This record gives sequence, structure tokens and C-alpha cells, in this order.
Amino acid sequence: MKRVLILGGGFAGVEAAIEATKAGYEVDLVSPRSYMYIYPISIWVPFEKADFDSLCISMEELASVYGFNWISDEIVSIDAKKASATGKKREYGGDYIIVAFGASKLESVKKENFLSICSEPGEILKIKEAIKKLIEKGEGKIAVGFGGNPKDTTAVRGGPAFEFVFNLHNYLKKLGIRDRFELTFFAPMKEPGKRLGPQALKMMDMFFNRLHIKRVFGKKIKSFEPEGVLFEDDRLLESDFTMFIPALTGHRAAKNGDLPLSDSGFILVDKWCRVQGYENIYAAGDCAYLEGPAWRAKQGHIAEVMAKNAVHNIAVFSGEKRGKPKSYLEHLNIMCVMDSGDGAAFVYRDDKRGVMVPMPVVGHWLKKGWGWYCKNSKLNKIPRIPGL
Ligand SMILES: Cc1cc2nc3c(=O)[nH]c(=O)nc-3n(C[C@H](O)[C@H](O)[C@H](O)COP(=O)(O)OP(=O)(O)OC[C@H]3O[C@@H](n4cnc5c(N)ncnc54)[C@H](O)[C@@H]3O)c2cc1C
Repeated sequence: MKRVLILGGGFAGVEAAIEATKAGYEVDLVSPRSYMYIYPISIWVPFEKADFDSLCISMEELASVYGFNWISDEIVSIDAKKASATGKKREYGGDYIIVAFGASKLESVKKENFLSICSEPGEILKIKEAIKKLIEKGEGKIAVGFGGNPKDTTAVRGGPAFEFVFNLHNYLKKLGIRDRFELTFFAPMKEPGKRLGPQALKMMDMFFNRLHIKRVFGKKIKSFEPEGVLFEDDRLLESDFTMFIPALTGHRAAKNGDLPLSDSGFILVDKWCRVQGYENIYAAGDCAYLEGPAWRAKQGHIAEVMAKNAVHNIAVFSGEKRGKPKSYLEHLNIMCVMDSGDGAAFVYRDDKRGVMVPMPVVGHWLKKGWGWYCKNSKLNKIPRIPGL
């Protein structure tokens, strides 16, 4: 039986492992985390709408349900020519490798004086603590923002920052102390959220005005100071607590080896998710460079499509399965439910349209339902809905 080595246990890695075991391959999945982390619903932890455990799907349980081997190790480098990967514990190989270890963060600014919801999962608990302390104090200034990567517009994660600030507003409002807090949203681009389309941009502007959230847009960030965020013009945005999402860059382990990489370190793949120049190495999810329209974005559902296609294409190209190879390009869209704690907005963007549909109350519960569905369908406790 042929062996597939999967590096990473997030949306892409777990999907690849499920598909590859179903297709009859022997599967080793190497990931240091003992759980798959559901990032999209992590925004609720600081606002007491979800606890940390509810975001985690046990890797041991996944491995036992589907019958793959989970190996707890961290990959440090890849030798594509040898089709092997070196971890902190040992070296790994396989007939095929699917690289799916996500992205690293662009470290153009020092990580002191801010916390991020897109960092290592445990950081969300520190954010919860920081907000709790300010609430106990009874007043404060909170800054929320995200950064850009000038070399790759897909390496930006703005959606969760919007969700965070809207959830924070509604949480403080519910506690009856919103008027004692100053909330500011900042981003280096002039029109953050532009890729969602003009309608979404207008709607977001309306939300910021209505919720009295100040904005600092179009200013490059110089540094994060204990007193707040310092911009390139030396203006200081005062902040008692800052939540900032740095832009993404290619994973450090991908940079450590001979994989072909884009300018910002993402793995270059063809539309079949095959790493350029290699027959037996694939990459899926946030670690891979995405081709496509200017508005394209790295998202969980794209990671899953890429992983699924990678397994299908391995079987097709090797002649083990009949059929045509599948491209990820025709699945590119932006689709998310942008939560605000008391409701949400459905966001959809493709080549033809960009829409944002407000869904008061029901939208929040829809996203809650998705979180439950994600966990239970991954564990095969409920059937999978195609495309979800
Ligand atoms: C707060 C937040 C909210 C989001 N909301 C949405 C949303 O609403 N909708 C949406 O579609 N997308 C959303 N996203 C994006 C989505 O979560 C990512 O696109 C998705 O997680 C990418 O999946 P991935 O498997 O490529 O990477 P990840 O999910 O980051 O998984 C990477 C995996 O690789 C492992 N790993 C890391 N380093 C190594 C190493 N050296 N060796 C081995 N394994 C390693 C990690 O432990 C992890 O298991 C959100 C992201 C964040 C952070």
C-alpha cells in the first residue's frame, strides 16, 4: 500500500488525511498540536461565548475514527528532491507528501505590546485575560487592527479583526459599559476590506459610524509601544490593550529546504496543487501560493478544497484512479459569515459579484451552528454536507 505523508493538522492537513485514508492510502500525519484548531470560531472566547476546548478537535480521536497515524512532531525542514521532511524528533518520508502546515507571521514589527487571535491557539486566553482586566478597571482604550504584506495581497487576514471589534463592542454594550471604552480600528491600507467589494466596504463604514468605532486607515505602523500604536508619522494611537493580526508569510519550515517559493515564501503549486517541478509533492491551504483574481483570499474552505483535490490528483496522476485531475482555481471565492456577537453578515465575493447581506440575530446562530457542524462532521458523528 502506498504511503502519504501529511505535514500539518489544520483544515488542509486533516481533510487530506481523511480523503487519503478513504482512498486506501497508508497515512502519516505529522503535527505538533494534539488537536485541530477551529480558528474561525475562536473570536468568541474573549467574550465568553465559547470556551477553548470547544475549538479543539482531538487529533487522537480523528486518527482513530479514520485510521491514520498521527505523529506529534514539528517539521523543521523539507528535502523535496529526497521526498523527505525532517522533524525535531526524526526524519519522515512517503510515496507522496502533502505539505499543509499553514503560514507564519510577517515579523516586521516586534510582537511585544500586542496580542493576536491568529497566533498560537493559547494566545486567545491571554486576550480574554487582558480584556477582563480592563473591564474590572471599568474603562479603557482598545485598539484592534491588522497588517498588510506588500508582496502578497492574499497574505492578509482582516476578517477576524473586523469580527473581533464588532464582538467587543457588543460585549461591552451588553455589560452596560460601552460608553466608558474608546475603540479604534487601524490598518495600513486606505480601504481595509476592499477585496470584499464596494458594497461591503460601504456597509462596514456604516457599522463603524453607527457603533462609534474610531478609524485610523492608510497609515503604516512603526511600532507597538506600551502606551499604544505608533504610526510612521509618529502619531501615537493610545491604547491600554491592542489586538493586532500581523500579515502572513510563508511557513518557516518551507523556507528551510529546496521547495520552490513565491517572493513572500509561499509554496509554488500548479492548479492541481502539485509543487512546481515535483511529481510526488503537493501543498494545500495557507502554506501554498494562490493564483487567481486580485480579490482572492486564503480561507479554510479553500484549504479543504485544495487538500481534497491533492488526494484526488495523486490517485489520478499515478493511474490508480480514473478521471480528470481537479483544479482549485474554479473554487476560488470568498465566503464567510462575519460575526458581530449579536448577528452577522454573510459575505460572498467571486468574479461576478461582491455582496454583504446583514443577518441580524440569525447570522450569529448560523455561525454557531457551523462550529458545531464542523466538529461533529469531522469526527464522522454526523454526515458531511457537500461543499461545507
Ligand atoms: C481568527 C481566524 C478566523 C478565521 N475565520 C475564517 C472564516 O470565517 N472562514 C474561513 O474560510 N477562514 C477563516 N480563517 C482562515 C482559516 O482558518 C485558514 O485559512 C485555515 O485555518 C488554513 O488551514 P491550514 O490547514 O492551511 O492551516 P492551519 O489551520 O493554520 O493549520 C496548520 C497546521 O499545521 C501545523 N503545523 C504548524 N507548523 C508545523 C510544523 N512545523 N510541522 C508540522 N505541523 C505544523 C499546526 O499545528 C496546524 O495543525 C480564519 C483564520 C483565523 C486565524
